Amino acid sequence: MHCPFCKTPDTRVVDSRLGGDGDQVRRRRECVECNERFTTYETAELNLPRIVKQDGTRQTYDEAKLRSGFTKALEKRPVSDEKIEESISHIKHKLLSQGEREVNARTLGDWVMEELQLLDHVAYIRFASVYLSFEDVDAFRKTIEKLEQQ
Ligand SMILES: [Zn+2]
Repeated sequence: MHCPFCKTPDTRVVDSRLGGDGDQVRRRRECVECNERFTTYETAELNLPRIVKQDGTRQTYDEAKLRSGFTKALEKRPVSDEKIEESISHIKHKLLSQGEREVNARTLGDWVMEELQLLDHVAYIRFASVYLSFEDVDAFRKTIEKLEQQ
């Protein structure tokens, strides 16, 4: 990393220790050129990405909205809240592990479909029939046929 004093591209780490609750690394660095010392902090970037809708607008990830999507699809179905929370945390994990600043609403919708398919077929069909566009209907019909064969 560049020295903030003289802009030399080479600096040396003289000390490295955990800070915060162990989720941060604090490093003391020394410039090999001007010998100035400075401190850097390193943390994992775990910001949830923004959701890009089909019309190009961006929205912040809204967990309450996601939960209500699950609840609506699973209305009067024999699936516990616990299972819904598990699905939501799977999706959240995927959002975080992508490491992207933005994720398509379409991708998010596909993940919801995957979760619902595992939870309850009726809910899956309910969600898909609202969510999928016309050109997807054929692919969807094939999925349903596959499910019925199982
Ligand atoms: Zn320097």
